[in-house]
Amino acid sequence: MSRNKVVVGHLYPDYLNIYADRGNMAVLERRAAWRGIGFDYRAIGMGDGIVPGEHDLLYVGGGQDREQALVALDLVGKGEAIREAAEAGTAVLAVCGGYQLLGRFYRDRAGVELPGVGVLPLHTVAGEGRMIGDVLLECELVRGERRPLAGFENHAGRTILDDGAEPLGRVVAGFGNDGRSGHEGCRVGRAVGTYLHGPLLPRNAWFADWILAQALAHRLGEPPQLESLPDDLEESAQRVSAARARARGGRR
Ligand code: GLN
Repeated sequence: MSRNKVVVGHLYPDYLNIYADRGNMAVLERRAAWRGIGFDYRAIGMGDGIVPGEHDLLYVGGGQDREQALVALDLVGKGEAIREAAEAGTAVLAVCGGYQLLGRFYRDRAGVELPGVGVLPLHTVAGEGRMIGDVLLECELVRGERRPLAGFENHAGRTILDDGAEPLGRVVAGFGNDGRSGHEGCRVGRAVGTYLHGPLLPRNAWFADWILAQALAHRLGEPPQLESLPDDLEESAQRVSAARARARGGRR
């Protein structure tokens, strides 16, 4: 197994790609290539199988209720392989609609309950009004290292984490999972779900590298120390995004 590449499975790129979430793949590919790391991108569509262990990272973007309903049953059919892969250390990044479907279920505005994969300990119920706007989080993925994560959100779903489940971060500004808990996203080991669109990774270079390192850890056994890159533009984009979120005022 080559130590200097990552195999990335992108679930339903034709259905769950709202707000340019596909851009997250472009960022990971570039940040790998700038370090001489290969990026073996594999789209996973309707009816495609998943071989547990084949991928170092599984990625799924966001989508409206309609697109989620189109893929939900097919995704559940892949559920056992996805759970097995995540339990064996494949990294996972799920955004918004994809995040919701990695929980136990998503009940949409019409009261239709879409089954989820159950990789993340949570469930989601769509509520009155949409949670829309710029978001700023404080994350502590590495103990003692608090890092900002900026993006924007647009969801009707209110995501409830199971007791004891680890959120991705604390909401500094914006709604987050449900507009009440003060938390956003969910993390289980190398698997992360979040509501943050943007796309997320271009404006959060540190998090893009954290995801890349988790994918490499699936091959190498532990996350490598990645050489730093000249991220002036990315850091400027994060500052602009964070300032917009703060301008919304504190947590709603
Ligand atoms: N349809 C889901 C919701 O409204 C997810 C939306 C999204 O992916 N932006 O909550």
